[in-house]
Amino acid sequence: MIVDAGHGGRDAGATSRHTGQKEKDLTLDMVKRIKSELGGSFRTVLMRGNDTFVDLDDRVIGANRFGDAILISMHFNSGPSNVRGPETYYWRVDSHGLATRLQHAMTAASPVESSNRGLVRRRLRLTRNPEIPCVLLEGGYLSHPEESRLIANSGYRQKLASAIASAIRTQAAIGDAGTGPLPSPLTEPPSRASDARE
Ligand SMILES: [Zn+2]
Repeated sequence: MIVDAGHGGRDAGATSRHTGQKEKDLTLDMVKRIKSELGGSFRTVLMRGNDTFVDLDDRVIGANRFGDAILISMHFNSGPSNVRGPETYYWRVDSHGLATRLQHAMTAASPVESSNRGLVRRRLRLTRNPEIPCVLLEGGYLSHPEESRLIANSGYRQKLASAIASAIRTQAAIGDAGTGPLPSPLTEPPSRASDARE
């Protein structure tokens, strides 16, 4: 189990103009909470455990060192100020069930269930390039006034981390059962830095 805190070091990610918080700090906080929620039931490795810059390609190389692991990359979103809600990206067929569970869990933890941004199949470096199941989570929008204040609340972040850990445990226990039909395999080439937004 590899938990990746998005951004870090000179790459702050998004900054909330409502709370002043930086995505890189919130993702680091979240991965520590997720690791602690998973407890001893999984061997959990943090891709970064402090405020350092790690190139996306190096994150992929790091993840591929663990042949039988899964990778969860934690992020927070930014966009128009009226958009809110969690969102989950995946690409690989073997990541669909896990992504479905994680999106459902984050949406259930959110006080505004209608704000579900859904499951998105997108070819990103961290969804296409690892050779293990991998999912990228956007835990909510730092650009939304209410949601960014919610994310600033450590109790809410703990709730989100607990929901994420629970989805990971369920996936480990019963696999893709009940997560719906699998998507078709796609064979597009690996994603590169020059590709669209990540
Ligand atoms: Zn991000």
